[in-house]
Amino acid sequence: MDARAIIAKVRNRDQPSAGELRWFAAGLASKQVSQAQAGAFAMAVCLNGLGEAGRVALTTGMRDSGDVLEWDLPGPVLDKHSTGGVGDCVSLILAPALAACGVFVPMISGRGLGHTGGTLDKLEAIPGLSTDVTEAALRRIVRKTGCAIVGATGRIAPADKALYAVRDVTATVDSIDLITASILSKKLAAGLDGLIMDVKVGTGAFMKTPAAALALAQSLVTTANGTGCPTAALISDMNTPLAPALGNAVEVGVCMEVLSGNRLAAPRLHDLTVALGARLLVLHGMAKGEAENQLTTAISSGRAMGHFAEMVAALGGPPDMADDWRTHLPKAPVVGDVMAPDDGYVAAIDGEALGFAVVALGGGRRVETDKIDSAVGLTEVLGLGEKVTRGQPLCVVHARTEEGAEAAAAAVLRAIKIGPKPAVGPLVIEEVS
Ligand code: URA
Repeated sequence: MDARAIIAKVRNRDQPSAGELRWFAAGLASKQVSQAQAGAFAMAVCLNGLGEAGRVALTTGMRDSGDVLEWDLPGPVLDKHSTGGVGDCVSLILAPALAACGVFVPMISGRGLGHTGGTLDKLEAIPGLSTDVTEAALRRIVRKTGCAIVGATGRIAPADKALYAVRDVTATVDSIDLITASILSKKLAAGLDGLIMDVKVGTGAFMKTPAAALALAQSLVTTANGTGCPTAALISDMNTPLAPALGNAVEVGVCMEVLSGNRLAAPRLHDLTVALGARLLVLHGMAKGEAENQLTTAISSGRAMGHFAEMVAALGGPPDMADDWRTHLPKAPVVGDVMAPDDGYVAAIDGEALGFAVVALGGGRRVETDKIDSAVGLTEVLGLGEKVTRGQPLCVVHARTEEGAEAAAAAVLRAIKIGPKPAVGPLVIEEVS
């Protein structure tokens, strides 16, 4: 086969065959397809799309460009993926909660991207913990504790690694077909029996409009099902941070509160975790009420916390995380309130700006080589629609320096608007299956 002929077909809106797209994906990984060819292909897909059959073929080819895990476990192998938002630490609660329900969760996760935090960065705020494990360790931890949240090894979907690097520098990241193949190739390489997608929409999400979120959700669901993995998506609201904390250690702290049975520490985070987990169990044949009940009980009883603590210890973290998490999590030296300038309600939150305020504090990366400061962030962030009085804290800033704290406070005051009571939409906006 010839990469040029395949690129020309996409350019001319003449659908390449499944075999051609699979060959192209394998060539990306083996370097038989050059970077110039990868760039031309990405631009052609960006402009003309691949269609449903093409997306399935490209996704399957990229998934199969590296290792695809196979399991022999006494329960279903299920996972969740989120398109990214602020204060979104669902994975840290959902993976152990599912494990407590008899599910096995090999959750291959990512690092922070743009204004959104990354699950791996959050988990690595726990001293000693490393998410960089071998495939053998991943298998051992999943079998023993029911869940493992880890980074992808270089052997998972190498075609995506090659194509993503080229997309990043050729203005071809925001193609629904390419995003779909990129996300799913990595997730499906974990050898899943089912997948739930959390597609976020709103000021703190990458998808800012319901129409864009729906298009991505439909693409992800049809493509994943087309590859043979039962998949559904929830479109969830990101016009207010999901948890009242943004930052790495502080988000782990909120998760520890919820895993201790304190739903009220972060009700939206808890409720979305249950909704996503329940939809996943329903995909696997359980009735909705039973699924919700099992997950809620797994969290409130402390059983999910037990699985989380076991996973933390297996990844090199402290063995007593469940009991002593407050001592273990790093703390920032400068802590101060950001006061509301007026009376009223939290009328609008620019979630992306809040996320970037945390990045500026050092809680995220501006370039790939930046080292993360796990301790910094925002806590007690008021949610959309909450009543405030002048002089009451809008949130608490945790910073490394006084200057950092001042800059973050100014960014928060720009991001959170006080005004008349706003309409607050539902947490789960739509389901796509
Ligand atoms: N996340 C991914 O893994 N790939 C994309 O293309 C976009 C987001």
